[in-house]
Amino acid sequence: MKPIIFCDFDGTITETDNIVSLMTHFVPEQSEKIAKAMMAQTISFKEGITAMFDLLSTNQKDDIIQYLKETTVIREGFSEFVRYAQEHDIPFYIVSGGVDFFIQPLLERFGPFSGIYCNSADFSGEQITVVYPHSCDEHCAKFPTQSCGCCKPTVMREMAQHDQFKIVIGDSISDFEAAKQADLVLAREQLIDRCKDLHIPYKPFNTFYDCLETVKELIEA
Ligand code: MG
Ligand code: ZN
Repeated sequence: MKPIIFCDFDGTITETDNIVSLMTHFVPEQSEKIAKAMMAQTISFKEGITAMFDLLSTNQKDDIIQYLKETTVIREGFSEFVRYAQEHDIPFYIVSGGVDFFIQPLLERFGPFSGIYCNSADFSGEQITVVYPHSCDEHCAKFPTQSCGCCKPTVMREMAQHDQFKIVIGDSISDFEAAKQADLVLAREQLIDRCKDLHIPYKPFNTFYDCLETVKELIEA
């Protein structure tokens, strides 16, 4: 058994979604309109994220990081789970639709990870510009008409070897395309319902202590 872990960030490692949290704090009214359009799928996830960060001045960078550092709650057991993976040489990738400038400071004290795949931010202009270095390959269900932004299944195809047992950890619809490629899904919230509907093997979790138990069982089996 050679496990490899692909773990979502917002709503999985953190208890709430950081983009929602920062937008609600800094630009509540304007961002809500965009969020509604994303929910109604009249705009893509990528278009929505681009439009939301365009509401923020590049001068607000430090305030945003500070705000999230003060308010974000890391899910219980995360540091123990990461340590277990490190001690057992289990590759551990963070794959997130969030943005590097807030993910990295929030994860700093837990690493090192095998890799952090997410969107980037460009602060050279007046407004924050989101850059998407990990777009969908031609095998993604969203390719080419829609776009994931940071494409989780594409990252998995790049990083996982055939003999590895792929574990996807996530909470939402944005993890679903990755979950379809997993050997095991550790799921919360909407991702549970999606896995049920499509008969994808999953285990529900509340804290990372639950994830730790599952991975231990797999390794020791
Ligand atoms: Mg999430
Ligand atoms: Zn994609």
